[in-house]
Amino acid sequence: RPLVELRGVCKWYDDFSALHDIDLTVHEGEKVVVCGPSGSGKSTMIRCINQLEAHQLGTILVDGVEVSPDMKNIERIRREVGMVFQSFNLFPHMTILENLTLGPIRNRGASRAEARDLAMHYLNRVHIAEQADKYPTQLSGGQQQRVAIARSLCMKPKVMLFDEPTSALDPEMIAGVLDVMIELAEEGMTMIVVTHEMGFARKVADRVVFMDQGEIIEVAGPEAFFNAP
Ligand code: ADP
Ligand code: ADP
Repeated sequence: RPLVELRGVCKWYDDFSALHDIDLTVHEGEKVVVCGPSGSGKSTMIRCINQLEAHQLGTILVDGVEVSPDMKNIERIRREVGMVFQSFNLFPHMTILENLTLGPIRNRGASRAEARDLAMHYLNRVHIAEQADKYPTQLSGGQQQRVAIARSLCMKPKVMLFDEPTSALDPEMIAGVLDVMIELAEEGMTMIVVTHEMGFARKVADRVVFMDQGEIIEVAGPEAFFNAP
């Protein structure tokens, strides 16, 4: 079943073409790694999928729902598409637990107790449960990124997008975040991951998409891709 579909997607800034004629279908449970040089449109492509950016031409569907440039389905799209960025964007004046419980989960009508249980469940899954009552600055960057992943998972998204989730981390913090992402992949989450971590790509990716100058120039299985001459 196709969960994310891009057909003929184009985006430009003034006369600069950031995305040109992008076609990509990601099926339920599939893991796609997106790579390519800086400025090639990787971030723009995934930001268009959850409407942080609006595309100008073409069609984007998330589980059959149109991601339309007029934002008419934006609430539904944001609920179904989880997003993890390079920066963690946690609220500094709230505890880790509050960062998860005081936002979108409550807005979906969960009671205080339900929100807390759900948050603790996901903090457990990213191995941060013991830090639930600390504040973000008391955690390492890697731990904060795992909290950001848990915060996204609380929305029970159908697909998770990652935009260079380990690029801002000290090297010793990267493995812990990648391990959590690998666990998520093994549990069957549909994932689109922009990353330069080729070890992760080799281990997890069903397909690797290579972008350059706003276009997808190659799509391959990780083996073919990494063994190419
Ligand atoms: P990548 O993620 O592959 O590094 P991006 O998607 O961030 O690439 O950017 C693609 C291109 O679009 C870059 O050349 C970038 O400078 C340009 N770009 C991104 N956002 C804007 C914007 N708001 N206005 C103008 N150009 C932009
Ligand atoms: P990343 O490296 O994560 O892709 P960038 O540094 O390319 O991030 O961009 C950071 C922000 O600046 C993004 O929101 C992007 O849309 C915006 N941006 C990038 N390039 C330009 C540009 N040439 N003009 C205006 N905004 C830009």
